[in-house]
Amino acid sequence: MLRCRMGIKHKRIKATFLALIILGLSLFCSGCFANNFVKKFGTNITEYNIDLKLEDKKTMLGKQTVNYKNTSSNILGEVYFHLYPNSFSDVAVNKPVSKLYESKAYPNGLSFGKIEINDVKIGNDNCSYTFENTDNDLLKITLNAPLYPNDFVKIFLDYKITIPNVLHRFGYNDKTINLGNFYPIACVFDADDWDKHPYSSNGDPFYSGIANYNVSINYPNDYILANTGNKIQSHENITNGTITTNMQAKAVRDFAMVLSTEFKTKSQLVEDTEITYYYYGDEKSDDSMSVAQKALSTFNNKYGKYPYTTLAVVETGFLYGGMEYPNLVMISDGLDKYDDYCITIIHEIAHQWWYGVVGNNEYDYGWLDESLAEYSVVVFYENNPEYEIMRDVCVKNAITSYTLFVDVYKDVFKQVDTSMNRKLNQFNTEPEYVYAAYVKGMIMFDDIRNLIGDKNFFDSLKNYYKKMGGHNATPNNLIEIFEDTSHRRLKAIFESYLDGTAIIGNVENKPQN
Ligand SMILES: [Zn+2]
Repeated sequence: MLRCRMGIKHKRIKATFLALIILGLSLFCSGCFANNFVKKFGTNITEYNIDLKLEDKKTMLGKQTVNYKNTSSNILGEVYFHLYPNSFSDVAVNKPVSKLYESKAYPNGLSFGKIEINDVKIGNDNCSYTFENTDNDLLKITLNAPLYPNDFVKIFLDYKITIPNVLHRFGYNDKTINLGNFYPIACVFDADDWDKHPYSSNGDPFYSGIANYNVSINYPNDYILANTGNKIQSHENITNGTITTNMQAKAVRDFAMVLSTEFKTKSQLVEDTEITYYYYGDEKSDDSMSVAQKALSTFNNKYGKYPYTTLAVVETGFLYGGMEYPNLVMISDGLDKYDDYCITIIHEIAHQWWYGVVGNNEYDYGWLDESLAEYSVVVFYENNPEYEIMRDVCVKNAITSYTLFVDVYKDVFKQVDTSMNRKLNQFNTEPEYVYAAYVKGMIMFDDIRNLIGDKNFFDSLKNYYKKMGGHNATPNNLIEIFEDTSHRRLKAIFESYLDGTAIIGNVENKPQN
């Protein structure tokens, strides 16, 4: 997600900066590898088969069969699924929108969503299941027999989804229906236990493994559909005015869609990937497509090739700048400045590398993908000089912005915790999260780059992409790959940023107790 502008033309004084923080930042703002990736990671893995019926913009019915693979070394007696829509319910404690942004997110008044589970079966057999977490956003399915490592179990789910009227990744608005994190998705079994994190209004509270998807959706025929993966076929049923579209996505870590009756589209082939731009209000759609095309080319070149054949760039109603999903990025139609719209396209496309191919626990290590996506905006402008945005100016403005944030926060709150290595729910405010995960993360990578040189830096990122692609990375994986590639000891400098002791600008940032 993009929540924060880098401050490329930052000239604000402290007072207006404070207002910005408090009142709300509207924009929180290898060829062989690619060819083999889907084949390598899309074989013998968990598969989702999902049949959806969008009855209207508020209601969707689902039947889902998951052929779940136990990728752990433990014998499993249960399988957990996230039920993220329940975080949008009226009684949810861990709400998807903080108080600060509530009026902006719900322009038509508060609206609520949920997912009701009607039936769960294992194979054809009934089974016991319960809901967990404060907001019932976890489904625990007790297996009828132990599931051994590398074995599969077929789980059937029947559900009804209520879509809220909210400018968010899951919600409908005046222009679009955003379907992100809408279906039951298997939790990750990590380090001998299930990851059961709740929702958070900070960041992107998601974590999943690579899987294959076969999804069909039936919807009113006046809608146009943007989606993860490839459309295999569409069939129009004239008698009831609906279309059924079948889609397939292999070796992806999530599946998302956006529907609108107003979408116009344009497509362009970039190397082996067809970018399709879905838009309705963008008056510079050719320029936006050009930015998307250059972003894909730049990151293919600097990090390693994007392994998928489709990428949907989607203008949509959204509270923040944008949101990333595999093969699909949401770009907010509410951005005031076109420059910010372009930055969001670049940032979200960079997430295809950092989050999409190289995954990570976004709840525990939100900075890991966000700081790389943010630094990728610098990399983009550096490699596309026609936009006349210089690397040193980007970094200098980020440092100015960051030190001002620390100063102001200390003035107002008497203390500031600048550590990056916190779980999403451990950040006190959204600005605190944004400045730690995005702005400071971007400064950190530029500092590391200055230390080890350009070649070592980009070789490290290429190695990180190559080694961790298809997997979920941890901070230690990143640090070790940078150290191995550059033959430099970097753990201490990385950790000084992560624990909040690094000196940035003239500000010494000590973590608070
Ligand atoms: Zn992001």
